[in-house]
Amino acid sequence: MYTLQRYTRVPQVTNLMKVVSSQIRRNCDHATPLSLLSEEDQMMREMTRKFAQERIGPLVRPMEKAGSFDKDLVKELFDQGLMGMEVPEKYGGSGVNLFTSCLAIEEIARVDPSIALMVDIQNTLINRSIFKYGTEEQKQEWLPRMCSDVVGSFCLSESSSGSDAFAMKCAAKPDGDDFILNGSKLWISNSDIAELFLVFANADFNKGYKGITAFLVPRAQVQLGKKEDKLGLNASGTCEVLFDNVRVPKSAVLGNVGEGYKVAIGLLNEGRIGIGAQMVGIAQGCFDMTIPYLKDRKQFGQSVADFQGMQFQIAHTATEIHAARCMVYEAARMKEAGLPLVESSAMAKYYSSECAVKTTQQCIKWLGGVGFTKDMMQEKFYRDCIVGTIYEGTSNTILQTIAKSMLTRY
Ligand SMILES: Cc1cc2nc3c(=O)[nH]c(=O)nc-3n(C[C@H](O)[C@H](O)[C@H](O)COP(=O)(O)OP(=O)(O)OC[C@H]3O[C@@H](n4cnc5c(N)ncnc54)[C@H](O)[C@@H]3O)c2cc1C
Repeated sequence: MYTLQRYTRVPQVTNLMKVVSSQIRRNCDHATPLSLLSEEDQMMREMTRKFAQERIGPLVRPMEKAGSFDKDLVKELFDQGLMGMEVPEKYGGSGVNLFTSCLAIEEIARVDPSIALMVDIQNTLINRSIFKYGTEEQKQEWLPRMCSDVVGSFCLSESSSGSDAFAMKCAAKPDGDDFILNGSKLWISNSDIAELFLVFANADFNKGYKGITAFLVPRAQVQLGKKEDKLGLNASGTCEVLFDNVRVPKSAVLGNVGEGYKVAIGLLNEGRIGIGAQMVGIAQGCFDMTIPYLKDRKQFGQSVADFQGMQFQIAHTATEIHAARCMVYEAARMKEAGLPLVESSAMAKYYSSECAVKTTQQCIKWLGGVGFTKDMMQEKFYRDCIVGTIYEGTSNTILQTIAKSMLTRY
């Protein structure tokens, strides 16, 4: 006979609800809403919001048109501490956690997704890689510079290895005390202005992905190839990066030889939370710009926001943005709690990027004809967020990650 206990493995107790409710009461003493911020986080969010609106805002369209970042603005990002957020204070950073960095990335993305991407890559991939896997010498050499004036690039993808990143062809041939790098990387964000490149190359193809090794390579040793002409994120330079017999010392290896795949996986699991924050910021920024217009715009003698048909759509979109934000915050808090986060970061990245695409598309439709023009920013938000479903794992491959993780529980 099947019993409740057999199904749920509930311990036999005299009064189940009594036990459960006392446990709930105990947990509630510590439970806080996901989106409740500490005073410090609130202050940081307000300051970043103000900075983004006042300093980044006026430069968004000019930078997009120029296809590059404003140099003075990049300097200001360093001066404001936004490029070294999680770096420990002893190396010149602000020493905040991933959750706080995500709040800043979200705020910046509400105004400019391109700048948000640069801040995200710098903090969640490059700086993190150095302080997580670097030797003390590497930390001392690079971290103070990453916080003061050096932009970093993350070089994993190649022309024939995107989703299947570990099938890379870029080679790192051991040569005495050095390695010689040959090959090329494609789609490398910020490579037009970067001074440090985190490069993944295979040091022993016989070992398959277990030959992959991570290297810290300075700008002077790499060449830039074609700069991509993209649909969105146009201020962010995305170029091919070429390595032609680039000799690097063993001291440039980040982590252990043959463990670059672990470095990449570890970084991307956390980095996806930053992309999630970027996507939530885009969705929120676009939504916030759209609603006042809908309230002002009158058709059939009334505000278009007053039509029930519109209100249901607006409420649905607001709900999805809220859900996406909660997922991103939850994943960031799981990281801070030291809990396994592969599934939650993948879910947050998947859901928030799909949400940003839907939200921005919806906003354009709500605006009517004007939404299809460049007089409004919504079209830019739409173009800028589609890549959220592609980089740091396409939606399909992220779904694979989620499925692989969750199916083991059944
Ligand atoms: C603007 C931009 C910036 C970028 N910045 C960087 C960067 O800084 N550093 C870096 O290393 N890379 C960067 N990338 C590269 C990005 O990470 C890759 O584009 C991404 O991983 C997808 O690889 P791919 O383009 O080769 O697509 P492919 O892997 O060729 O995928 C093509 C299609 O096949 C699907 N697919 C692939 N495998 C499977 C599967 N197993 N099951 C089901 N569907 C599958 C994908 O979902 C996709 O729809 C950037 C890309 C862009 C567009």
